[in-house]
Amino acid sequence: MANAEDNLFKNVISHAKEYGFIFPSSEIYDGLSAVYDYGQNGAELKNNIKEYWWKFMTLLHDNIVGIDAAIFMHPTTWKASGHVDAFNDPMIDNKDSKKRYRADQLIEGVIEKLEEKIEKEVEKAAKRFENFDRTMFVTTNARVVEYQKKIDEINGRLKTAMANNDMVAMKQLVDDLEIADPISGTKNWTDVRQFNLMFSTEMGSVADDANKIYLRPETAQGIFVNFLNVQKTGRMKIPFGIAQIGKAFRNEIVARQFIFRMREFEQMEMQFFVKPGEEMKWYEFWKDKRLKWHKALGLGNDNYRYHDHLNLAHYANAACDIQFNFPMGFRELEGIHSRTDFDLKSHEKYSGKKLQYFDSEDNQNYIPFVVETSVGLDRMFLSVLASSYKEEKLEDGSERVVLKIPAPLAPNKVAILPLMKKDGLPEKAHEIMNLLKFDFRCFYEEKDAIGKRYRRQDAIGTPYCITIDHQTLQDNTVTIRNRDTMKQERVAIHEVKAIISESVSMAELLKKI
Ligand code: ATP
Repeated sequence: MANAEDNLFKNVISHAKEYGFIFPSSEIYDGLSAVYDYGQNGAELKNNIKEYWWKFMTLLHDNIVGIDAAIFMHPTTWKASGHVDAFNDPMIDNKDSKKRYRADQLIEGVIEKLEEKIEKEVEKAAKRFENFDRTMFVTTNARVVEYQKKIDEINGRLKTAMANNDMVAMKQLVDDLEIADPISGTKNWTDVRQFNLMFSTEMGSVADDANKIYLRPETAQGIFVNFLNVQKTGRMKIPFGIAQIGKAFRNEIVARQFIFRMREFEQMEMQFFVKPGEEMKWYEFWKDKRLKWHKALGLGNDNYRYHDHLNLAHYANAACDIQFNFPMGFRELEGIHSRTDFDLKSHEKYSGKKLQYFDSEDNQNYIPFVVETSVGLDRMFLSVLASSYKEEKLEDGSERVVLKIPAPLAPNKVAILPLMKKDGLPEKAHEIMNLLKFDFRCFYEEKDAIGKRYRRQDAIGTPYCITIDHQTLQDNTVTIRNRDTMKQERVAIHEVKAIISESVSMAELLKKI
């Protein structure tokens, strides 16, 4: 991460804590690695993101319904899904620093460095030659060709080692590339071992292997095992979808970067069941729809891009990520996967129960194919928080930090601020709050100078502030201040609701998609 972005990210993290968005878990005991708590403002923002997703899925699509499955599931679920045998990351320890790494990420780091070198050569040449032809340059420049050859060789060896589960080959690659630990600087590594990312615990009072169950590593399986329950009781006709928001747990080897990679996190997933052979049509449909959903938030269209998967998981016949430009660069925000009939077929096999759909139009039974959309709620939160965070220099030379959170997602919609704590102003302010509180989340505050109070509301992203002063008592008007423009307007109390309504409305946001 470049220094400026690094600093920005640090500022966002400390702002999130200072203003009640995110706290380290059990902080009084020095926290728990990669686990976070959402504070009073964070919980509101998170709930609003959930509402935006849930309403998009279940209100705007009459063939999608939502469920809420338990976190604990029968252990065979995870055998059938492939997680017991294959939800692994290759782990390696440095014996001197005692730090743990993912071997594949260390190797990918070498590839990234080579790619950076190529980009530097390209940039240099582009400056030198007027009619610069990139394709021509990268295929003929000796140095670049050499770098690319090296990348292809490393990639090839990495892929083969991963595909064959060959940890000895993986270690050999770490040694051959002479990778050193960034902390100790030494190449004193342990062997590479596979590490299963699922957390396990025991159910019931006897702790033996027969009672071992897992904390779900994804919410999707709760949907698959309920496929027939929902289809039958909801009389659903293919194509249809089942949506779910819920916690997932992964014992990530390297869990850094704040709430980007956590060990306990939340997913918003939708599995769309389609007729076999039609999955690519629906895959394209959901790719497009999901990007539109993101872009409607107005966080900047350039902040999103697709990243197609070249190495597909064993169950997929097409997959891509929607990446977001986080403070540390473009990273996965959401995955869209065409999962074929892998999951339902496998659950049929392990459970011995038929998981098929009778298509009355075709008069045939089949196992539907599935297109999945899966977005991390916490990563969504980070994308909103980081791109809304602005440090602004004002015309009068002062500075402010403002969270320009999309208004429908903001924790509070309006702050009610009596100018003074006397002369009947607090009473009048409460009267106004009582008018508005059924429609908008209001925040009441009467302490400190008004300027200071505005700054505090800017810092938590409140789109509107309403100030009640002595004139209010005479003519029933208030000052309404807009967070983004900082413009203040005198309006009648009965006009306030209409002014606020449109911009903070979830329905209006949904209409933009
Ligand atoms: P990554 O490659 O970043 O580990 P993934 O491909 O394993 O992610 P999926 O299994 O496709 O992720 O999960 C779907 C979504 O869940 C991701 O796009 C991401 O937003 C979110 N997610 C996955 N793992 C984590 C995590 N450890 N912490 C927070 N969010 C996560």
